Amino acid sequence: MALTSVETFHQPETKNRVAELLQEHEDRAMIVAGGTFLHGLITRGLIYGIEALIDIQKLGLDYIKPVDEGIEIGATTRFLQLQESALLRDNAALGAIRDALEYPPMQIMNSATIGGCVASSCPFFDLPTSFLALNALVLVHGREGGREIPLSDFFTGLFENALQADEFVVAVRIPGAGKGCASAFVKLETNANDLAILNVAASLQMDPAGHCQAATIYIGGGVGESVVRAPSAEAALTGKKLDAGSMQQAAAVAKNDVDPLSDHRASAAYRSAMTAVLLERTLKRIQNRPG
Ligand SMILES: Cc1cc2nc3c(=O)[nH]c(=O)nc-3n(C[C@H](O)[C@H](O)[C@H](O)COP(=O)(O)OP(=O)(O)OC[C@H]3O[C@@H](n4cnc5c(N)ncnc54)[C@H](O)[C@@H]3O)c2cc1C
Repeated sequence: MALTSVETFHQPETKNRVAELLQEHEDRAMIVAGGTFLHGLITRGLIYGIEALIDIQKLGLDYIKPVDEGIEIGATTRFLQLQESALLRDNAALGAIRDALEYPPMQIMNSATIGGCVASSCPFFDLPTSFLALNALVLVHGREGGREIPLSDFFTGLFENALQADEFVVAVRIPGAGKGCASAFVKLETNANDLAILNVAASLQMDPAGHCQAATIYIGGGVGESVVRAPSAEAALTGKKLDAGSMQQAAAVAKNDVDPLSDHRASAAYRSAMTAVLLERTLKRIQNRPG
């Protein structure tokens, strides 16, 4: 299967030109970044009627920079660039990003982009779950200029997001976290090329005595139309010392926060049971990663 309907291939050099092209072609235009997800959609015949492809690699959006104690990652930054960034090293607050980047195969690490990963709006991807736990913002650009959308508002359903027809993702920004913050991510997969059966990311703000002052926990991979927040698990940890008892308690109630699906890879009952297991593993990682 090929995209035989394509008539033009654009390589714009400004963000405004991208917005113009998106507006001009409406839903018959498609942005190409790393092409790793698009390839699968095209070969399965899930994309058709596209007349214009817009390659965004000439916009200078492959960067990672410190911003207000946090970091900003340009949309065409590859997974491998992010993994190799010194800004990620020895930073407990960004541990969930480092963990998520341990899973994709090398071909994906070399090609997939941060913008493509977020814009695909697929609840089975890993980095978005980590980004959500770190309260990420999505920076988008359209004909009216730029705007910021909290990632938690960006995903609106399965493969759906808050982008307007003329908008595209230009960066992801991770706000700075205070001292004592640490995060982690864990994924359940059937093999190294597999998308998540389930994944969990958590970010905890700890006080010097080892008590959890605030928790942000997200669960992805077939537990809802999008990656879901886990308020029951968060509440079970808040104000508690992070020890075996509080971790087990949070893991036990996390099942109340998900509505797992059954598919060819896992039953809903298995996903539900593994939600508790994965959250406990994630919290143990944080325990060994003092902020
Ligand atoms: C074999 C395999 C293994 C994988 N393993 C993992 C894994 O372990 N963990 C994981 O998290 N993911 C995994 N993935 C998924 C991977 O993360 C995505 O394929 C990748 O992030 C998509 O990014 P891309 O740059 O290739 O996007 P593309 O394929 O170029 O585009 C994907 C979609 O996003 C749109 N788009 C791209 N960039 C933008 C933008 N800046 N603004 C608006 N729209 C945009 C495109 O129009 C398209 O609809 C795997 C994929 C494959 C094929």
